[in-house]
Amino acid sequence: MVNQTTIVAATSNPGKLKEFELLLPNFKIISQSSLGIVPKEELGETFFENSLHKARVANAASGMTSLGDDSGLIVPALNNLPGLRSARYAHENATDEENRQHLKNELKKLELNQSKAYFVCVLVLLRDSADPFPLIATGLFEGVVKTTMRGKNGFGYDPMFYPKNSNVSLAEMDENEKALLSHRGIAMQILKTKIERFSSNDKTHSL
Ligand code: IMP
Repeated sequence: MVNQTTIVAATSNPGKLKEFELLLPNFKIISQSSLGIVPKEELGETFFENSLHKARVANAASGMTSLGDDSGLIVPALNNLPGLRSARYAHENATDEENRQHLKNELKKLELNQSKAYFVCVLVLLRDSADPFPLIATGLFEGVVKTTMRGKNGFGYDPMFYPKNSNVSLAEMDENEKALLSHRGIAMQILKTKIERFSSNDKTHSL
């Protein structure tokens, strides 16, 4: 694998970008927003479809290897919501704070102060536009969502997500600690193994 290959991360979320940089230190990660690439609406019905779509948009606009990421929080007691709607749970242009408040209200409607939950992340690495088998990796991260929010780090639902067997929220954890434990961290370890495996075997679509 050649060091410092550039990968365009198909995200405009600074929190995710920071995590990608921590998780892929051998690559130069640039965000699609730094190239002026505007994300298109997510219309898929699965995390995988959305992730591939994001990677395609970033690759088509930049001509570079692209990394799609689609992730979300699943709360079984809420019929698996926020799920695919995690970024827009409260409304179409919701802030993280509004989404957290909405989740808190939905839990309260069921008279719950906490509920089992898990994060999902699907990463898709599209090496070029003719890549016949984009590399795909999925990570799950189990825990509990609580109406009590704690901590200032991270983004999204971090202040209300407490990893399994942990009494601190993700937003109370150090960024490196979260990056290794999280759905994105787990998916990234799987993706890295695939990058190493396929880059040496496939000269046409290698990195
Ligand atoms: P996406 O950009 O469409 O993948 O939206 C993912 C949404 O899921 C984010 O906006 C967050 O609300 C939530 N999310 C995904 N990963 C995390 C995480 O690691 N911590 C907290 N919230 C997350």
